[in-house]
Amino acid sequence: MTDADRTSRPLIEPRESVRLHAGYFSPQISVEVALNANESPEPPPETFFATVAAELGAVPFNRYPDRAATALRQALAESHGVSVAEIYPANGSNEVLQSILLAYGGPGRTAVMFEPTYALHSHIASITNTTVVAGRRGDDFLVSPDEIERTIAAVRERDGEGPAIVFLCSPNNPTGRIESTESIDAALELAPGLVVVDEAYGQFAPRSVLERRADHPNLVVVRTFSKTWALAALRLGYAIADPRVVDSAFQVTLPYHLDAVKQVAGRVVLRHEPEMRSQIARVVEERGRVAAALAQLEVDQTPSDANFIIFRPRHRDASEVWKFLLERSVLVRDVSGYARLDGYLRVTIGTAAENDAFLDALAGALR
Ligand SMILES: *Cc1c(COP(=O)(O)O)cnc(C)c1O
Repeated sequence: MTDADRTSRPLIEPRESVRLHAGYFSPQISVEVALNANESPEPPPETFFATVAAELGAVPFNRYPDRAATALRQALAESHGVSVAEIYPANGSNEVLQSILLAYGGPGRTAVMFEPTYALHSHIASITNTTVVAGRRGDDFLVSPDEIERTIAAVRERDGEGPAIVFLCSPNNPTGRIESTESIDAALELAPGLVVVDEAYGQFAPRSVLERRADHPNLVVVRTFSKTWALAALRLGYAIADPRVVDSAFQVTLPYHLDAVKQVAGRVVLRHEPEMRSQIARVVEERGRVAAALAQLEVDQTPSDANFIIFRPRHRDASEVWKFLLERSVLVRDVSGYARLDGYLRVTIGTAAENDAFLDALAGALR
């Protein structure tokens, strides 16, 4: 067969829910100042790498890893004061979300989220053939209790049951703020199924929904090592959930999904909580400084409880500003394509030097 024959030969299409999707796309461009993916600006502590290397020496690499990842889950359970049975770990919190959707979503079931929010919630829902119903954030980008009630009622009207999953993201990516206690209460009380709160940025915020878990078995809290734990390259996230939810998530998980290296590294980094807390404190302090500097420029910004800020140039086109920054080797995220975020860019809080480089370049772009 020639190459031409091979490419002209008809090939089966993937199923419709996959075809309809452009996929998740965040450009990976090599720059000096990367403030586009909400990663930690600092690596984990030096001693972390030494300990991981030492512990890897004891791993029997010819054997499959611990399928239940018990030691890692034990360490996570201790750090949250919960039981091992309440921890579901996976390859990044995106895989946690996927497992939850595979187990609780799917044909005939609905997931609700409030736009604009983290794109992967609706994306993974639709590739798992879960019906997506989007509610709407207010002008302050928060979800009101009324909107939660309205959206759940709208789904119930349609299918008689209501959503299997209500997603909240607190602090919300890409807009930055945590949801109010009233909204969390409304979701926990009104949702007939699971309430999945994505707390990828939870440690940057003044409060978490974790303490509500004991009273609400339908609450699933999702965390990741990618942001606060400075380990985006490791691909590790987890849910803290009712043991029945954890069991169901494991049922749709491939055997031995967490490799031995990740199990060791995840467990070891948890011993560095004090260092991580000071890294977080530095980011939060820098966030205040960047917000104050943005307030002096011709941009509108939204208050943030996370490690990023969205802002909108008042008199310049967002994509022109994005390009101008890139020419100065500063990469931010263009979120202007999100519904209702027309004209907005999102900047991750970096080191003091990176933030200065960003602020300088931005001042230049707006001049
Ligand atoms: C970055 C981010 C994640 C992280 O995904 P990982 O797969 O854990 O790297 C999850 N949720 C939100 C809202 C995020 O912004």
